[in-house]
Amino acid sequence: MVKETAYYEILGVKPNATADELKKAYRKLALKFHPDKNPNSGEKFKSISQAYEVLSDQKKRDMYDQGGEQAIKEGGTGGGGGFHFSSPMDIFDMFFGGGGGGHRRERRGKDVVHQLSVTLTDLYNGSVRRLALQKNIICDKCEGRGGKKGAVEKCGNCKGTGVQVRIQQLAPGMVQQIQSVCHECQGQGERINARDRCKNCQGKKVMRERKILEVHVDKGMRDGQKIQFSGEGDQEPGLEPGDILIVLDEKEHETFRRNGEDLLLKLELELVEALCGFQKVIRTLDERELVITSIPGEVVKHGDIKCVIGEGMPMYRNPLEKGRLIIQFAVNFPEDNFLPPEKLAQLARLLPDAEEPVVTDDAQHVNLVSVDQAHQHRRHHGNAYDSDDEDHQRQAGGMQCQTQ
Ligand SMILES: [Zn+2]
Ligand SMILES: [Zn+2]
Repeated sequence: MVKETAYYEILGVKPNATADELKKAYRKLALKFHPDKNPNSGEKFKSISQAYEVLSDQKKRDMYDQGGEQAIKEGGTGGGGGFHFSSPMDIFDMFFGGGGGGHRRERRGKDVVHQLSVTLTDLYNGSVRRLALQKNIICDKCEGRGGKKGAVEKCGNCKGTGVQVRIQQLAPGMVQQIQSVCHECQGQGERINARDRCKNCQGKKVMRERKILEVHVDKGMRDGQKIQFSGEGDQEPGLEPGDILIVLDEKEHETFRRNGEDLLLKLELELVEALCGFQKVIRTLDERELVITSIPGEVVKHGDIKCVIGEGMPMYRNPLEKGRLIIQFAVNFPEDNFLPPEKLAQLARLLPDAEEPVVTDDAQHVNLVSVDQAHQHRRHHGNAYDSDDEDHQRQAGGMQCQTQ
């Protein structure tokens, strides 16, 4: 039993979520609320990041489950020096493996991550998807200078540093230095006369452009897999552009569920099929028909699992090899009065014998009712025997209760 569930709620998962479910939840939310796409949801982005940082680390997750947020803030039993959250951007970059980090980032623009929704059919057969997106490209009129050649001057206010320093005297002999972004050049360190400014980009040096990416989804790719487009990120003068990363997001399929290389299928059988045999047609994700036939005389029980080898998901980069198609049978039992009572004897003669119980004269005959009925019964009869009743129910596993 967990103490608090807030972190789980932030990620929209149950407290018993697996590591994979946590990853998927973080991936979706982090991309949705990333400040690039949603500039007003910085706080939300931060809380998603913090929840994921704690829950993705088994030790911290245990700590949170036992002691809630308080335990995380206090940093466990050691006391003092609580846990410090990483920056949401670092968590994001680490998760998506972009950014490059460290010294690389100075020469290189940042990576842009997009999510692409794909069906299980896309991942089974492979597909080519076209994705339209907006990106910055360097203005070709001014070649990224922002104006005519020679029109760019160093900002006189900050001397090209982009930073403004103000000295404030607090008391005689005591001064304070205040740094802020230069308001003349907005931190650019340079300025362009209005009349020399490039008309094409209004001096911004870059233009927004619509770009269509052709994304090749290969057979056997997985949910969360990244497809990289090197150097397709936003262009910026003086920087090597970053990459565009496409992250696949597998949608749930109505018939098949994927488990690694295996496909899982739930197949319903009528009781007569479970007892006397069956033949079923399964339509595959590439529209073939598979016929499965039971072995004569073999009974299939509710929940039984069988598999077809080589009819699962194709392996990534080796698509001729496929996993297993795992079939779980669900047996439908007939509703009440499916046969006239006199015919039941006939059926019973065909079925294997049941064991006859020994009933003594002293034995008490009681009614067998549904659990719902038992609840109503208790409400009607009120209180005096309530605790007794409860004991009975517990002993009987909640399946029946005794009445006089
Ligand atoms: Zn321009
Ligand atoms: Zn300036």
